[in-house]
Parts: sequence; structure tokens; C-alpha cells
Amino acid sequence: MKDKIMKKTLLICLLFSSTLLISCSSPLLNESKNTQTCSTGAVQLTTNFSTGRMDSCKVIGNNEYLITLIAETSPPGSLPINSSPWYAFQIKADQPTPIKIIMEVKDDVHRYPPKVSLDGKTWKLQDYELKGERLVMGLTATTQATFIAGQEIINNQYYVDWANKIKKNSDVSYDILGKSTQGRPIYKIESKGKGNEWIVILGRQHPPEITGALALFPFVETFLADNSLAQNFRDKYNILVIPNINPDGVAAGNWRYNASGHDLNRDWKDFNQIETKQINQYLEQLVEQGQKIKFAVDFHSTRRDIFYTMPVDYGVENSYFVEHWLGALDHHMPDFTVIQKPGNNPDLGVSKQYFSDKFNIHAITYEMGDNTDRTKINKIAFSASNTLMKTLLSDVDHNKK
Ligand SMILES: [Zn+2]
Repeated sequence: MKDKIMKKTLLICLLFSSTLLISCSSPLLNESKNTQTCSTGAVQLTTNFSTGRMDSCKVIGNNEYLITLIAETSPPGSLPINSSPWYAFQIKADQPTPIKIIMEVKDDVHRYPPKVSLDGKTWKLQDYELKGERLVMGLTATTQATFIAGQEIINNQYYVDWANKIKKNSDVSYDILGKSTQGRPIYKIESKGKGNEWIVILGRQHPPEITGALALFPFVETFLADNSLAQNFRDKYNILVIPNINPDGVAAGNWRYNASGHDLNRDWKDFNQIETKQINQYLEQLVEQGQKIKFAVDFHSTRRDIFYTMPVDYGVENSYFVEHWLGALDHHMPDFTVIQKPGNNPDLGVSKQYFSDKFNIHAITYEMGDNTDRTKINKIAFSASNTLMKTLLSDVDHNKK
């Protein structure tokens, strides 16, 4: 879709799931990947930090800069890359200097309204204008480096800090499931109860899909809360969370792919990519050990809030389970309308289909809108997690409507 960029009406002042802020002590500058720079000496634009990305940058006038965004290369014969032009850079100057930044996207259009942050944690929307295909913004570069990015920056270190924080507050294990194409760790967090049934939570197959990540954090934290519902749930069910499946793509600021140029959420059939292959092997090994995969949720972002589900009549166990869950979510949130889109595409290689076909269960793709209010993302996730626990603990027959 080539929608025009969303109007900058939403006010984000933001924050991720409420508990996180204090814990995120690590700076964003800890995993240098890209080194594009644009400098006039007195003013510098840089991307030398994890998630940093501008594919080219030119000085085109007096304190005027042109940034071009270009999708990573698709392997020959692959599907066209999803339109998700990610950018993230820092500006800094020797003394306060008004600058003009023009951004263009090669062969595509802008998707993410620019956000700015001084500390990499608190973000606000930056004023901009769209002039044809060009996004133009004026700001003042100062001696304090300022981040400008398409969405809030959630880098690989952020996940480590988050996992350490939840490990401190709940009874979970946290370790490495495998390694990415470039050797970065892919982490898993597990909560083990008394039974053999597992709920699997996946995230960040697609690096710029930040609102999906912003939903995953509170969704998981709600499972791990210190209350009787969550405790009963954890007593009965096991939880496996793999929050960051594509750490190489995250570090590189990719629009879509992993380090070898593949869309991981098209690889859950052939398992040609090391990231998906290792997760499949891990799940197979669980099943070989007598464990059962019960349900899976995969977090993403798109232009609106929508849940991609498997059809009721697809033939998996507990046919109406997702209907019951999402119906309860809709009921519990009067100001939020649950949109469900059932679908079945055996050849596409998406995770949802894989879980259904391989384990004979329901699975969903949980998509949050790019511009959904961040507080609302939290509320939806909290309610979705609570209603999921209630649905899984209830005695209702999910094979009946
Ligand atoms: Zn996605």
C-alpha cells in the first residue's frame, strides 16, 4: 500500500510499558553497525549506533541535508519488500544551529512520522511537512546529540535490559536459544508450570515494527504479574517468549529482512534461515520430550490494529478458542473494536500457519497500528493477556461456538 504518511495528530509522549523506564540504563550507542555520516564540520549527522540507518546523506546547502532511504537488497526472485522505510540518526552541532533535513525514499514513500529524543527513551513527534515525495523538517542541532527516528528506538540491548528486569521480578529463566546469521544471540524467556502445555510468544521478525514490540512487553509482563489469575495461569501453563527473532535486522535498521536478505516471516515452511530453523528445532525438541504446543502469538505492526487468525473451520483443535478469546477482549474494551481477519495460506511461510499446520492448534498474528496511541497499545495488551489467561483457564468447551 502506498498510503500517504499519517497525519501527525497523535501525541506521543511515550512510554513503553510503564515498568521499563527505570531499568533501561544502557545507552543506545552500544552496538555500532552503520557508519553513514554527513558533516559540515560544525554540524554532524551520524548513524553509528545500533538501529541507525540513513542510506545516504549529502550536504546540499547552508545547513541543509538530503537523506535518502533505500531498502535492503532483496534476493533475486523474492517478493517485493514491504514498504517500511526505517531511519534513525543523530544530529549534533558545536553550537546551536538551525538546520533543514530533507528525506526521500528511493522507489517508495514515507511511512513513519519522525520522532525525536534526547535520551533515547522519551520520544515526541517532530514537526515536518510533506512536499511531494520529500519529507522536510527544520530543527536546531545543539551540542547535545539528538536522536531522530521513524519510531521509538528499541535496540537489541533494550531486550536484554527488559529480560533482566522481568527475571528479577518473576520466576522465569532467561537464556540463549540460538544465534542469528551474524552470530548475535537470540534469547528466550521461559516460565514453567506443572503441566506440559506451552504458550509461545514471538516478536520482532520485522525490525521497524515497533508498535508490535510495544505490545509484546506489557502482554508478557501481564502473564508474569503477581496476582492470582497470573499465578494460576503460570501454575498450569508454560510460557516461551522469543521477543527478538531478528537481532541482525534490528541492529542494521533493516526495513524487513534478516542479515542474509530474507523475510523471516516467509520462512516458516522451508526453514532456510538460521533464525527460524533454530526455533523450529527447539519446538520440535520440546514435543519430542512430551511437551505440547498449545497456542502461539506473533507480534507485528501494520497500518491499523488487526488480528490475523486461522479460520474457525480450519480443522485445528479447539476450533472456537480464538473467537472466544478475542470476543472476550472486545467485550472488555468498550472503546476498542477487535478486528479479526481469518486466513489460510499454506504456501506463504508465516509463523501463524506453521503453528496451525505443525501442531494442529490456533495461532495469531497480533498487529498494532504504526500510529496507535502508545497508552492504548498498553491497555489492549494488558486486556488481551488477561482475557487470554481467563479463556485458557476456563471450563468452556472451545470446540463449540
Ligand atoms: Zn510484520
